[in-house]
Amino acid sequence: MAYRTLNPFTEQKVQEFPEHTDAEVEAALAKAHALFKSDWSTGDRAPRLAILDKLAGLITKNRDRLANTMAEEMGKPLLQGQMEADLCADIGRYYADRATEMLKPQPVDSNVGEGWVEFHPVGVLLAVEPWNFPIYQLIRVVAPAIAVGNPVIYKHASIVPQCAAVFADLVRQAGAPEGAVTNLYISSAKVSELIADDRIQGVALTGSEGAGSQVGARASEKLKKSTLELGGSDVFVVLDDADLGKAVQSAVIGRLANAGQTCSAAKRFIVQRSIADVFTDAFVGAMRGATMGDPKDPQTLLGPMASREGLDGLSRQVEEAVANGATVLTGGKRADYTGFFYEPTVLTDVSPDNPAFYQEFFGPVAQLFVVDDDDAAVALANDSNFGLGGSIFSADIKRARRMASRIESGMVFINMWTTSRPELPFGGVKRSGYGRELGDAGIKEFVNRKLVVVSAE
Ligand code: NAP
Repeated sequence: MAYRTLNPFTEQKVQEFPEHTDAEVEAALAKAHALFKSDWSTGDRAPRLAILDKLAGLITKNRDRLANTMAEEMGKPLLQGQMEADLCADIGRYYADRATEMLKPQPVDSNVGEGWVEFHPVGVLLAVEPWNFPIYQLIRVVAPAIAVGNPVIYKHASIVPQCAAVFADLVRQAGAPEGAVTNLYISSAKVSELIADDRIQGVALTGSEGAGSQVGARASEKLKKSTLELGGSDVFVVLDDADLGKAVQSAVIGRLANAGQTCSAAKRFIVQRSIADVFTDAFVGAMRGATMGDPKDPQTLLGPMASREGLDGLSRQVEEAVANGATVLTGGKRADYTGFFYEPTVLTDVSPDNPAFYQEFFGPVAQLFVVDDDDAAVALANDSNFGLGGSIFSADIKRARRMASRIESGMVFINMWTTSRPELPFGGVKRSGYGRELGDAGIKEFVNRKLVVVSAE
């Protein structure tokens, strides 16, 4: 796809960006590899952590610029863009402060001698990233990589070229040497070529199952480690003893934030029968009343979807769901004005033979299910090809914890919607992918865990 900014609120094309040439890609790779071979990657960590700390400060200073660029390129409401910028600054600071402790050599008990594991960089990483959190997705990979000493080349989604460029600019301003972090406008075919290059030593992709399976297959063919952060159809379970006010409020934000285009958004709402009517009335009413509009208006909760393709795809999914027996409780169609807006929608009566049952709805569309008890909630939750996150609302924490441990997903949040913080390892199981980003787990995905042993004899 060609790199271009098209404002999803006005539907007008703003600017196009040419792809990098083969010579430019080669030069970027050569610089990144040379940096990996230099003292910058393998030497003292302090100068790299100073860059991260400075980057965090620059992100905070530029939060409005970042939020505006996100709003213009992919329709994220300003307030949500500012929150994303704040989270990105926190991620930078988190690794700046903690990486030294996290990457300290770990002793290994052995009767052959004194042993320990050291954590070393592995080489240049290739990151392929999606548009939905255009700055956060980048820093999730870049911050731990700088801390470890792995240079990064990233290919961002073709609809957010300015976000891609602004982030690279901030990293440069933070003092990163040339080659440490490089933004390339390249095609999928070029990604495949790069993966085959011996100088690339790891591949991180966040995106759809289709892209994940192609990039993951290519990485494995070329014997490169990969992490895949893919889609999800997270459950949001409301048990009979839940605080319903809190559950409804969280359900609406969990489903509508970022116009519903969040991998770990609440997508399947599973509600216990005795409170189902009350929850449904309040949830449907709140979804219907969500403020939809200009992403640059601070009152807006629900902005436009990021692209016409996303809007058309979601519209088709809902039509197909309804044709196969789903009932629309509210919404169910594109909003009737300029901009890629889809009405906040609640579907029910989605049976397992409806294609919608196993699909991810990447937009403001909720599926609502009613169950009799905890076992039925768990069975329904696990009847999914995905396993990214999930939420459980209950006043009985013991009961919610028991349920959390039975849900087949990488993350479960009790009495809150699925969220992301620098210290919380993020990732999934099943077709939601493999590997983790953030936290201690994230920084150790692309490291050489080098064992050193001194003989006891
Ligand atoms: P996508 O189409 O897979 O795009 C993601 C990135 O992959 C883009 O940079 C895209 O480039 C690139 N790409 C696509 N096909 C490729 C291929 N064959 N080879 C190499 N690169 C390829 O995904 P999306 O529609 O933008 O994002 C939505 C999906 O991402 C959803 O399923 C969502 O749940 C998932 N997601 C997961 C997480 C997580 O952490 N688990 C977070 C956010 C989103 P172009 O733009 O040039 O096509």
